[in-house]
Amino acid sequence: MTDPALIETLKSLVEPGKVLTDAESLEAFGKDWTKHFAPAPQAIVFPKSIEQVQAIVRWANEHKVALVPSGGRTGLSAAAVAANGEVVVSFDYMNQILDFNEFDRTVVCQPGVVTEQLQNFAEEQGLYYPVDFASAGSSQIGGNIGTNAGGIKVIRYGMTRNWVAGMKVVTGTGELLELNKDLIKNATGYDMRQLFIGAEGTLGFVVEATMRLDRAPQNLTAMVLGAADFDSIMPVLHAFQSKLDLTAFEFFSDKALAKVMARGDVPPAFETDCPFYALLEFEASTEEVANAALETFEHCVEQGWVLDGVMSQSEQQLQNLWKLREYISETISHWTPYKNDISVTVSKVPAFLHDIDEIVGKHYPDFEIVWFGHIGDGNLHLNILKPESLTKDEFFGKCATVNKWVFEIVQKYNGSISAEHGVGMTKRDYLHYSRSAAEISYMKAIKAVFDPNGIMNPGKIFAE
Ligand SMILES: Cc1cc2nc3c(=O)[nH]c(=O)nc-3n(C[C@H](O)[C@H](O)[C@H](O)COP(=O)(O)OP(=O)(O)OC[C@H]3O[C@@H](n4cnc5c(N)ncnc54)[C@H](O)[C@@H]3O)c2cc1C
Repeated sequence: MTDPALIETLKSLVEPGKVLTDAESLEAFGKDWTKHFAPAPQAIVFPKSIEQVQAIVRWANEHKVALVPSGGRTGLSAAAVAANGEVVVSFDYMNQILDFNEFDRTVVCQPGVVTEQLQNFAEEQGLYYPVDFASAGSSQIGGNIGTNAGGIKVIRYGMTRNWVAGMKVVTGTGELLELNKDLIKNATGYDMRQLFIGAEGTLGFVVEATMRLDRAPQNLTAMVLGAADFDSIMPVLHAFQSKLDLTAFEFFSDKALAKVMARGDVPPAFETDCPFYALLEFEASTEEVANAALETFEHCVEQGWVLDGVMSQSEQQLQNLWKLREYISETISHWTPYKNDISVTVSKVPAFLHDIDEIVGKHYPDFEIVWFGHIGDGNLHLNILKPESLTKDEFFGKCATVNKWVFEIVQKYNGSISAEHGVGMTKRDYLHYSRSAAEISYMKAIKAVFDPNGIMNPGKIFAE
């Protein structure tokens, strides 16, 4: 698929050795964490400056070559997959923290800064970057902005969107825009920064981002609670939220826990077997707060909602309890799961989950279903594990049929077909379950403004 003469012209735009076309690189950089599409890019290019990104975009417009922005490639919707001869633009060499302002509490990042690198930098300043999830050690700020990543602290801190003070972007025409200039207050019309957040690289490249930091949380403390049934989880959330400022409220099923326990490297929270578990976290900043947490726990036990529980007493125990939840995605990836990342408003979660569980169980009683998610913000991850007996294609084919029913329920509850993983290629055929025809045509019109030749990540969010 590679056109050698064309690739020579691309090489002239960047430093020597910063265009790769070997089979191994094409395979590695042409895909993200999804396994639905075979990678087939024609080259990978590694710009080292904004000017080089602009030159690549102008080159792509001239030669009508599609570009795929690439971050840490931890995405779960095939939004960073290059399956059709595209050129992948990787930000691995634009990975520096450029500036820190202690008064504004802001950090200027190149797009290839790894999420954990920003978290660690914040910690060194005595501050906190709160967007966090299991892939934070590999995902990049550009990719986090591209997907508007959420994660485990959304209940308190919101999504990546909340932490972007300003951005420099190179549009699909090669123009450099400086969006919002890091201001807190800026009432000068459309906030185009927000358009580029969650755009999955379809409008242009994020080439620099100013990220906000927060004060560091004090004495973070986690509790893992075993719930009597799923219906008990929501009253438990309500009980704790009315007494404490939670920084996280996650849930997982017994099946999810069993997979993690089978690894053998995580200590159990407690012995009692329960059908569902909640992991909540708060700042035990004073003894009163810790006591309030214990009193609420006792109340939940008295009500019959909670069967057992544990509260972390040390940093090590806090980390161990989090592993029970954070290791789920990676552990079940062994079974090539079909992942759904759906959301509804928090109050609708119990009815919504029952409807979906019933429909999936009815049509595919043989499939192993693993539930977990960020239930404190209404986001559920429904994972269907591939049975050994089915090939990947047979399995994904069957799951596509389930999707229709799942998304009809999502629509019934006015929810979203993708809470945080993005639409990419895996969910693009289902976008109409969450967005009206009018909205979709406005979205396409917006893309045409920033990317008139359709070179930016075509086939993502909408089919070409
Ligand atoms: C184990 C595991 C757990 C996860 N948990 C969560 C979770 O809890 N919450 C959550 O939200 N996500 C989660 N994810 C998904 C994933 O980590 C996030 O979507 C993350 O934001 C992707 O970042 P990335 O750098 O890997 O981006 P990539 O996968 O490389 O790209 C994602 C999108 O961003 C675009 N993009 C990348 N760089 C740029 C740029 N510079 N400019 C413009 N567009 C760009 C790409 O084209 C693509 O559309 C998880 C993934 C794994 C593997």
